[in-house]
Amino acid sequence: MAVSASRAAPRVEISLDKIEENARAVVEMCGGRGIEVAGVTKVTCGQPEVAKAMLRGGVRWIADSRLANLGRLRGAGISCETILLRAPMLHEAAEAVRLADMSLISSMETARALGEAARARGVEHRVILMVDVGDLREGVLPDVALDTAARIARVEGVRLYGIGTNVACYGGVVPTYENMSVLLHLRDRIRNDLGVDLEVISGGNSSALPLVAADQVPQGMNQLRIGESMLLGRDVTYRRPIPGMHLDAFVFAAEAIEVARKPSVPQGEIGQDAFGKVRTFRDRGIRRRAILACGRQDIDPEGLRPLESGIEVLGASSDHLILDVEDADREIRVGDEVRFTMSYGCLLAAMTSPYVHKVVV
Ligand SMILES: *Cc1c(COP(=O)(O)O)cnc(C)c1O
Repeated sequence: MAVSASRAAPRVEISLDKIEENARAVVEMCGGRGIEVAGVTKVTCGQPEVAKAMLRGGVRWIADSRLANLGRLRGAGISCETILLRAPMLHEAAEAVRLADMSLISSMETARALGEAARARGVEHRVILMVDVGDLREGVLPDVALDTAARIARVEGVRLYGIGTNVACYGGVVPTYENMSVLLHLRDRIRNDLGVDLEVISGGNSSALPLVAADQVPQGMNQLRIGESMLLGRDVTYRRPIPGMHLDAFVFAAEAIEVARKPSVPQGEIGQDAFGKVRTFRDRGIRRRAILACGRQDIDPEGLRPLESGIEVLGASSDHLILDVEDADREIRVGDEVRFTMSYGCLLAAMTSPYVHKVVV
């Protein structure tokens, strides 16, 4: 889609300066405790400008979950070391070896496929074995981690470079000193039993930052993979703003295509809406409403937070976002734009939607 007009709507405005400053704040916070930072670009679909802003802010690696995104970053000249965050599918092993310097993995099949692809390319591919400390997304369980590490260490073409963990993504498990320490005990056993000195102990994602701030990360943890907090300026466990960070590095803007005073309760028998939900409505009388030209194909309406007071998001169908603008400070008219900050899920949808323009500012 052509992104010529910087005022085209709907759009995401991306402030590179704010991302750089947020990245620097995270890098400084972690650096003081011996932790280096990988900047995670997946929520932006591997936007090269975002990666460059993170690198200016001091991150050491760029990490992404998808090979298509790593390809986009490489194609744009990003030359730092890259990390593939989601284990490649077996048929992607050759691409993974070509586009990533290291991969997070949790299966022997993946290790063997990467080893084969690396040997075919005449290189060595570094792998970080993921250990599941309770969140029940990826990772081998701690009781088989040493055995898996031993087997990976014997695969030709791959180098067991580190171990890592991820929490707070699926189960919502909160990182703690104790669950992070599992990795450090494992590191010691890998050193003593296998004679392998691991370079990277990768403690987790944005959810670990409050522990870093409270100086409660166990000594020896030396990598964090940070996306959300760097991009949206919030801690991810309770979504509180992190002091000194920008919350508006990404702003969503959409244009009003209808503004009218209407009843606040639908007329007629209520059945399911377009998404299978039966909704309830509070009667607030006749209210001024605006419809913006965007919808669930582009955003998550629950994740939009208007930048102006007196505007409330009522809901959305596929292509219509409905606002209550009765109490807005200005009179919103057809053709006017309304701007919002976004939750992580909403940003993910907006960056992924081909209908939303991405404008770097
Ligand atoms: C997405 C992801 C991250 C980054 O998570 P944020 O919450 O955005 O910081 C880190 N590690 C892995 C494995 C991921 O998939």
